Amino acid sequence: MLRTHTCGELRISDVNKEVTLTGWVQRSRDKGGMLWIDLRDRYGITQLILEEGKTDASLLAAARQLGREFVIRAKGVVVERLSKNDKIATGEIEVRVSSIDILNTSKLPPFTIEDDTDGGDDLRMKYRYLDLRRSVVRENLLLRHKMAQQTRAYLDSQRFIEVETPVLIKSTPEGARDFVVPSRLNHGEFYALPQSPQTFKQLLMVSGFDRYYQIVKCFRDEDLRADRQPEFTQIDCEMSFITQEDILNTFEGLVRHLFKNVKGIEIPSLPRMTYDDAMKYYGSDKPDTRFDMKFVELNDVAKGRSFSVFDEAELVVGICASGCAGYTRKQLDELTEFVKRPQIGTKGLVYVRFEAGGAIKSSVDKFFQESDLKKIGEKFGAQPGDLVLILAGARDKTRKALNELRLLMGTQLGLRDKNKFSALWVLDFPLLEWNEETNRWFAMHHPFTSPKPDDIKLLDSDPGAVRANAYDCVINGTEVGGGSIRIHDRGTQQLMFSKLGFSDEEARRQFGFLMEAFEFGAPPHGGIAFGFDRLCSLFGGSDSIRDFIAFPKNNAGRDMMIDTPATILQEQLDELGIAVKVAKP
Ligand code: ASP
Repeated sequence: MLRTHTCGELRISDVNKEVTLTGWVQRSRDKGGMLWIDLRDRYGITQLILEEGKTDASLLAAARQLGREFVIRAKGVVVERLSKNDKIATGEIEVRVSSIDILNTSKLPPFTIEDDTDGGDDLRMKYRYLDLRRSVVRENLLLRHKMAQQTRAYLDSQRFIEVETPVLIKSTPEGARDFVVPSRLNHGEFYALPQSPQTFKQLLMVSGFDRYYQIVKCFRDEDLRADRQPEFTQIDCEMSFITQEDILNTFEGLVRHLFKNVKGIEIPSLPRMTYDDAMKYYGSDKPDTRFDMKFVELNDVAKGRSFSVFDEAELVVGICASGCAGYTRKQLDELTEFVKRPQIGTKGLVYVRFEAGGAIKSSVDKFFQESDLKKIGEKFGAQPGDLVLILAGARDKTRKALNELRLLMGTQLGLRDKNKFSALWVLDFPLLEWNEETNRWFAMHHPFTSPKPDDIKLLDSDPGAVRANAYDCVINGTEVGGGSIRIHDRGTQQLMFSKLGFSDEEARRQFGFLMEAFEFGAPPHGGIAFGFDRLCSLFGGSDSIRDFIAFPKNNAGRDMMIDTPATILQEQLDELGIAVKVAKP
């Protein structure tokens, strides 16, 4: 090897050793007769020192010519540093250099390759391979590597088998658009890239694999939203001969294993909450349970006081922000503006201050007597010093809005610490979801999810009330995983497709293979998939999944480095039988 040690390895105990290091010149400092070079590789930074009088003059002159990011090999002796740096692991030593080989030169990098960089997003994405030299970004990928290793270790210990499923497949509806790949050999026909390996993993259960997993790329051509990636990675799993309880226990095991072995944190057993409760108490199917501030419904104490906003509302509901009674007029106005923004869309915000001195003041004093306000306070268990914030309107919309307000208050009060983790299961999701635009029912999870046996009878009379054997794993208000117990008989699957508006013919054309497989002894089965990128970013304490993907796309779905999507040659289009005229490049 070209080196004896890495740049992260040498310690005070190595003093006097003759060593050879290789790496990139991060920066040089030339002070009087001394030249220091920070040499960087994947493992860390080691300081090199060259000194007039002690270092050969021609070597010193050559070293002064080294530019940023030159790749060099330096030989020398480890010495103790005079001024130590306790911020880096090698900070007690430096290497007194006796020779340097330049292994490669470098153009001046377009941004500084250090923890704090001057590079903007676009520039860093265009030169992602340089961005990846920065330790902050590299650490994220190391975390990702550990997460993958620990996932495999855990699932292997539970007798799961990793099986690769194909990437060129036929569309599987998961609620998003497919990316398609034209077939050269069959003009007019297309493969689709998998939105998930859903049908394949179910077929593997029919094959008897019993426990399958795969850390797998999935593709969804969804509308662009901040921090969505058109290609992303799932930890995809499926099990046979299990109940929902078995799945929850097995994957709670995975989540806790990851926290323990990657972050060194023991998290408690995951509490469980029904979907209905999540909506009722948090206004969200992915509640952030790092803090309390649960919703309290107030219809019984708020209505009938001649305040039309409350009287006409389907739901009056609030939260109690402890210690916030002292919020200024301006702060309250800001909260009101927040809930009135079109994205949130409420008409206004009612507050009740339970002042430290015992007085109660509200924005609806005209309508409510102190005894009424006291009753409201009691419902929250409000203490002197607390502030109650109330919204009113249509049920679902108001819950959603109060969820946003709750999260904002949580943030303002510092209750959403990135280093604190709160995980739970949300259970009993509705099977179906009504879509206003297309005027039909959609599967909330996917069409392979089984209804709760007790609810099947409601499929005709009240489809929206049918609950599914479906569950989500939520951490810190983010859905990190979701799955279900599947349908495993042809009859029910066909019924499901017909409820979703598929004609028999359509269902057979798209999913005939799966329904046929169900006729050859399909075992009861179920599974789950975790969003691996999201899980990594959460473990890394970041909001951005891009920071945990080596070569991500930007928010417009574009890879700035290789500059794609891009046009292709007319010859390629002709070969594929695609009649698009493109300008010659
Ligand atoms: N295929 C599902 C998804 O991608 C997960 C599952 O049901 O296992 O969300």
